[in-house]
Amino acid sequence: MQDRPLSLPVIFHRVERMFAHKRVISAHSTGETITDWGEVCRRARGLAEVLDRLGVPADARVGTFAWNSRRHVELYLAVPCTGRVLHTINHRLFGDQIRYIVNDAADDILFVDRSILATVWPLANGFPTVRYIVVMDDGDQTPLPDDPRVLDYEQLLAQASPRTAPFTVPDENRAAALCYTSGTTGNPKGVLYSHRSVVLHALLLLTVDAFGLGERDVVMPIVPMFHVNAWGLPYAAMLCGADLVLPGPAMRPQSLAAQMARHRVTFSGAVATVWRSLLPQLDKHDLSSLRQIISGGGAVDEALSEAYRQRLGLALTNAWGMTETSPVVTVSRVATVHDNLTREQQRQLIATPGPAIPLTELRIVDEDGSELPWDGSTPGELQAAGATIASGYFGARPAPEAFTDDGWLRTGDVATIDQYGYVRIVDRTKDLVKSGGEWISTVELEAIMTDPRVAEAAIIGIEDPHWGERPLAYVVSQPDQHPTAEDIRRHLGKHVAAWWIPEKVVFLDEIPKTATGKFAKQTLRARYREQAAN
Ligand code: ADP
Repeated sequence: MQDRPLSLPVIFHRVERMFAHKRVISAHSTGETITDWGEVCRRARGLAEVLDRLGVPADARVGTFAWNSRRHVELYLAVPCTGRVLHTINHRLFGDQIRYIVNDAADDILFVDRSILATVWPLANGFPTVRYIVVMDDGDQTPLPDDPRVLDYEQLLAQASPRTAPFTVPDENRAAALCYTSGTTGNPKGVLYSHRSVVLHALLLLTVDAFGLGERDVVMPIVPMFHVNAWGLPYAAMLCGADLVLPGPAMRPQSLAAQMARHRVTFSGAVATVWRSLLPQLDKHDLSSLRQIISGGGAVDEALSEAYRQRLGLALTNAWGMTETSPVVTVSRVATVHDNLTREQQRQLIATPGPAIPLTELRIVDEDGSELPWDGSTPGELQAAGATIASGYFGARPAPEAFTDDGWLRTGDVATIDQYGYVRIVDRTKDLVKSGGEWISTVELEAIMTDPRVAEAAIIGIEDPHWGERPLAYVVSQPDQHPTAEDIRRHLGKHVAAWWIPEKVVFLDEIPKTATGKFAKQTLRARYREQAAN
């Protein structure tokens, strides 16, 4: 057989030649741009020349701070197709984390949506490797800094003579993209995706028992393009020639639902908090075009799943994955063995992660690393292996503890698996809180302890009806000190992003400890659950 690389130019040339007429719709601050894949590819060819002209090295990391937009898609194509690494960055993180991420990746150039510039520009002097900041004007009015590093995307493209030669990336194992995820012990960790894994993952999403995407689909990734390549949806849409609908900064439920209805979206993916916020919109818009809606990145609760069944007659399908797993590993579905279940039972099944898609293996193990049975009731640490699963971390954080001696990824999730491979997540060993699909680091929140009035502080995640989880702070004051919850929150405001700050601060005389002297968080969680139940 021909030994041809599975690299992104394969996707680029296919969408450019065969699906140039299919639509790419992109919302921005003042409206919507309707264009097609032909135009996106032409502009990506121009962008390739811009990167060369600006002297961006052949294997440089190219950082993006951008919404789900057509320009971001152009970067998704031009950067990896020229052998460079697309580094998508979550602008919702705190400044120190953003600085850490840009410097760990040693980004050479940043592309920033104008509506995100106010977050990025104040940090720019702390990015020694960044030579240029290219602003993408999305209709926002943030003033442009008068600085030679700042360039305009459209001006650069207007001056470019688009590259005409085909793109080639001969080594399929070359890095295509980089995405950071929260570290359990502080700084974020970078996951580097190879061309091969990105192409395989896109192909897997087209399989019928995964997302079953095809040319007739109108795909709307609401999950941000800075979260694991928007779960791979843009590349999958290109590969099959689907229309792509991008919400840009217009993330209000009303705008999302209106865009979905206007463009007859058939497939969409978002975290549970977004699906929850869309509930009041369901009766106000014609969403009858939807054939599949995916909720990933966290659990789907009963009430949400039932609400979608009642209102749209459509199951909210759960999928499980991680930044380290490209991310999609499981997608739920009703198999032949479930045909005898009641409709209610089938709906409940669809709301759980379900079975692994092809090419990924899963196992559950006990504390000694021995494999546990797939009986649907024995919980163990979930581990994953496969061609789309990371084998290590990028840069200064190798984190070998995240992998087993035989090379499997330790997910930090606790799961059961049944005899048909259906996964249910029952707990988490990693000490993090997932709020609205975004991680909150408990370790960083424990910066509460840098307040001289505080002796000890421990953070746990508690269930929240809107956000899925929120952090709760247990605080022990120093003798003779009486800080209030508001004092604690004000202190934290100096150290972490505003949305990380716990609404609930509970003062204790003492925080329970484990035998080794660590905070006994399981005890705190169990106590909280007990109190909440009473
Ligand atoms: P993503 O961007 O896909 O959410 P992250 O790496 O930020 O990836 O988070 C992955 C973690 O999120 C998982 O290890 C798990 O704890 C949680 N998670 C993801 N999907 C699900 C799901 N379907 N059910 C329960 N938890 C989930």
